Amino acid sequence: MNKTIEKIVSLCKQRGFVYQSSDIYGGFGAVYDYGPLGVELKNNIANAWWKEMTRNHENIVGLDSGILMHPKIWEASGHVGEFHDPLVDCKHCGARYRADELADDIDNTDWENMKCPKCGTTGKMTSPRQFNLMFKTQVGPLEESGSTAYLRPETAQGIYVNYQLVQGSTRMKIPFGIAQIGKAFRNEIIARNFIFRTREFEQMEMQYFTQPGKDDNALIEWKQKRLDFYDDVLGISPEKLRFHQHGDNELAHYAKEAWDIEYNFPFGWSEVEGIHNRTDFDLKNHEEFSGKNLKYFDQENNERYLPYIIETSAGLNRMLLAVLSDSYWEDTENNRTVMKFDPKIAPTKAVICPLVKKDGLPEKARSIIEVLKPHFNVLYDQQGSIGKRYYRQDEAGTPFGITVDHQTIDDGTVTIRYRDTQKQDRYSVENILKIIQDSLL
Ligand code: ATP
Repeated sequence: MNKTIEKIVSLCKQRGFVYQSSDIYGGFGAVYDYGPLGVELKNNIANAWWKEMTRNHENIVGLDSGILMHPKIWEASGHVGEFHDPLVDCKHCGARYRADELADDIDNTDWENMKCPKCGTTGKMTSPRQFNLMFKTQVGPLEESGSTAYLRPETAQGIYVNYQLVQGSTRMKIPFGIAQIGKAFRNEIIARNFIFRTREFEQMEMQYFTQPGKDDNALIEWKQKRLDFYDDVLGISPEKLRFHQHGDNELAHYAKEAWDIEYNFPFGWSEVEGIHNRTDFDLKNHEEFSGKNLKYFDQENNERYLPYIIETSAGLNRMLLAVLSDSYWEDTENNRTVMKFDPKIAPTKAVICPLVKKDGLPEKARSIIEVLKPHFNVLYDQQGSIGKRYYRQDEAGTPFGITVDHQTIDDGTVTIRYRDTQKQDRYSVENILKIIQDSLL
């Protein structure tokens, strides 16, 4: 199967999953907008993550902190000093690269004699320059020193600086976790691969506070739980997922041990989520920079300590791209394209179609919609042949097609057509809600 990212991009635009930002102005670099189907899919993925974290774990609670925070936070976290990417340019063609993507050991690479991968010219590459990825902005009306703030490059710091408040209001005992979903911003040097690497994106992060010494086991536990989520909840094929452990030259400035969950995208294996042992690096620095005691009092052991933190940090947009890539199926035998979303995250769960626009069938179809719509998204469609209506929904990833025909008026049954197999069964109208609900468990 010729499964390319270009085809997915094109389907996303046509069907209203993802649009390039500011399209009528020729687009805006590395920012994307989510259309009617895309926003439903994205919300469903985010809600599934939120449910998995907070509802399924008694010791994990939620938080929603601001995008703008005290600028000192980013000094303490190391982002002002260390959140850099090395940038190199080709002086001949102007192509721009992240140096670490061109060479494994950038300090010992002879840049002057390197060949530009784009134009092939040798000897025109600049030496790497460090480029900070944080977006700066101005707070208040005056552009004066002291008013600089940053758009957060990760949601994690909002959790760290609130951790004592959260612990105080919930009385949770270690180990406990705080989960947050929100926007993050990075001025990426090279944004590419559609929504994989963008300058504005959403993170779903859970920071797990443990006793020092119990951190290694907590990391093992969370690695497994996070991998299971992709298979069990998102329905992603397990053979397309793997772990990658960060070597010494890849480890972020805060990490003792780090693993990525990678998905085999149409453009190759790439990170979707990071699971990191951040130790007490962040809390220690926040203690130092804020002057506040951030230690946790462990009543059982009668001791105070800075907790170690295991972080699970997923990109919502990357996860969505993994879902899109995994679901995209060209059913050549039947000449159709199908998005095989797991029903749990499908934007629309069912389309309800009257076979014809008369004989009371539209009214009957609408009455079924009334029963289903309090529970999940459903759609009414009476335009075109029934086959065309089904194919339209195959591209949208709608798992169930329900057709109301003349027999429905006689005996109260409808056909249910299954998206992937195209098989059809007849059921009593009363059973439909339960059948769809069961597929969402
Ligand atoms: P990469 O190496 O791809 O730049 P990273 O290791 O810097 O990613 P983290 O800082 O660990 O990423 O961020 C956690 C998650 O946030 C990533 O696994 C990814 O899903 C998401 N993410 C990070 N940067 C971006 C981006 N520019 N666009 C979309 N998602 C991103």
